[in-house]
Amino acid sequence: MSVRFSLSREPILAPVLSAADAGGFVDFVGRVRNSNEGKAVVGLEYEAYDELALSEGRALLEEAVRRFGLMDAACVHRLGPLKIGDAAVAISVAAPHRRQAFAACEYVIDQLKQRVPIWKKEHYAEGPSDWVGISPTPSDLYRRQITLPEVGCAGQERLGSSKVLVVGAGGLGCPALLYLAAAGVGQVGICDGDKVDCSNLHREILFGLPEVGQAKAITASATLSRMYPHVKVVAHPVRLTHENADEILGGYDLVLDCTEGLRPKFLLNDRCVGVGIPFVQASIHQFEGQIQVVIPALTSCLRCLFPSPPTDGCVGNCAESGVLGFTAGLFGTMQAAEAVKLLLGIGRPLTEETLLVDLRDWSTIKVRRERDPGCPACGSGNMERPLEVEWREALALNANWIDVREPVEVAAEPGPTSVDWIRKPLSTFDGGLPAGTLVIACAHGVRSAGVAAMLRQQGREAYSLAGGIDGLVDRTVP
Ligand SMILES: [Zn+2]
Repeated sequence: MSVRFSLSREPILAPVLSAADAGGFVDFVGRVRNSNEGKAVVGLEYEAYDELALSEGRALLEEAVRRFGLMDAACVHRLGPLKIGDAAVAISVAAPHRRQAFAACEYVIDQLKQRVPIWKKEHYAEGPSDWVGISPTPSDLYRRQITLPEVGCAGQERLGSSKVLVVGAGGLGCPALLYLAAAGVGQVGICDGDKVDCSNLHREILFGLPEVGQAKAITASATLSRMYPHVKVVAHPVRLTHENADEILGGYDLVLDCTEGLRPKFLLNDRCVGVGIPFVQASIHQFEGQIQVVIPALTSCLRCLFPSPPTDGCVGNCAESGVLGFTAGLFGTMQAAEAVKLLLGIGRPLTEETLLVDLRDWSTIKVRRERDPGCPACGSGNMERPLEVEWREALALNANWIDVREPVEVAAEPGPTSVDWIRKPLSTFDGGLPAGTLVIACAHGVRSAGVAAMLRQQGREAYSLAGGIDGLVDRTVP
C-alpha cells in the first residue's frame, strides 16, 4: 500500500480506494462555505510551499495508517482561488472496521489543519481579505496560565521542554494525562499494557464505549494528540516490568505513579530511585486516597516505610473493593498539580509528608515522612530477594513448577503447557517437594505467596508466581 497525498490547482473529487477486504471506507470532503465568524465570505485562496506541504501531508497519512491500522489512505488538497461550494480538501480512508475508518478520517482532517503548511486567505463581501487558520502560538494557548506571576513565559517554556511519564492510564492516569497535556508539557508518555474494559469507564475518563477492547496507551495517545497536537505524546503499550523499566523511564524528567496494586508501586519506586527520577505517587481505596512526592536521594521513598512489599491481595484493589470515579479523578488531578508545581518550582510539594484525604467528610491528614538510612532502596540496606516473580523471570530460574490449586481449578484452567507442573493441591499439601528452586503458582498469586513465604522460612529457595495462572491466561502468555 502506498499512501497518496497530493495538491491540485484543478477541481477535486474524493480519491477512490480499492482495498477489497476493508470493512469500512470513509470519504470526507470539505467545501468552501459562505461565512466565517459572522463575516460573509465570497471566495478564498489556498497557498502552499508545495514541497513542504507534500512531505508533511505524506507523513501525516503514514502516521494515520500506523495509528489506526488503515488498509489504504489518500488525501488531495486544492490550491489557488476557490468559489463558494468548491471542494477544498478530500480525504478517503479504508480500514478493517468502520470505527477505525471514521476515527482515522477525523484525525487526518484535524491534524491536516494543524500541521500541514497550507495557508488560507478569505475574501469577504465587505472589508479587506485576511489570512485565517494560522496555528495558534503558545501565548494564545496558555495566556491564562502565563498571566500567573509564578508561571510567566519562562515557566511556560520550562513546561514545554519537560518530559513526564504517566505509568497506568486508569482512574488516576486519565485525568493526570489530560491536565499535563492541557498545561502544555512538551512530552507526555503513557505506559500501560491493558486494554479498555467497560467496567472501568466510570473512572477512566479518557475512554468511552467506542474504545472498549483497544489498547489503553494507544487510544489515549491518539485522543491526546488530537486534542493537543502541539504536545508530543508517546505510547508505551506494555506493562512495566523489571526488564523494561529502565528503558521506558530513561529520558523522562518526572514520573507519575498512577498504577494500581502494590507490586507495580514497589517496582516503580525501586527503578525511579535507582535511576534518580522524581515521582509523584498516589493510591486510592474506596473513598480515601493518599499522595506523596519522592525525590531520590533527598526524600524518603516507599521502602523507607515498608522495606518489603506486602503481597498483592492483602489490600483490596478497585475490582474487589469498589471505587467511585471521582476519588480516582481527584487524586489523579492532584498528581498533575504536584507535577506542574515540581516542574515550575512553585509552592511546597508533598516531599516531606504524605497527604491523606477521606472524601466522605473531607478530613485531611498530613503524615510526616522520614528517610531511613538503612532503606534497601535509597539507603545502605540490601534489597531482599523479592518473593514474587514474573513469568519471564521465573522461567529464567530453571525451577520446579508447583501448582497448589485444587483439582477442580486445574480441570477448568490447566495453565501454560510450556512448563511441567507438579500438582500439589493446598487442601492435601504434604510437603514432599523436589530439591532446588521452586516456583509456586495458584490462581491469582495469593495462596502461592503464603506457601512460598512458609517454604522460605524452612530455608527453601521459593518464589510465588505474580498474578497467578489466571493472570497469565488474561495476558495470553503461552
Ligand atoms: Zn528509601
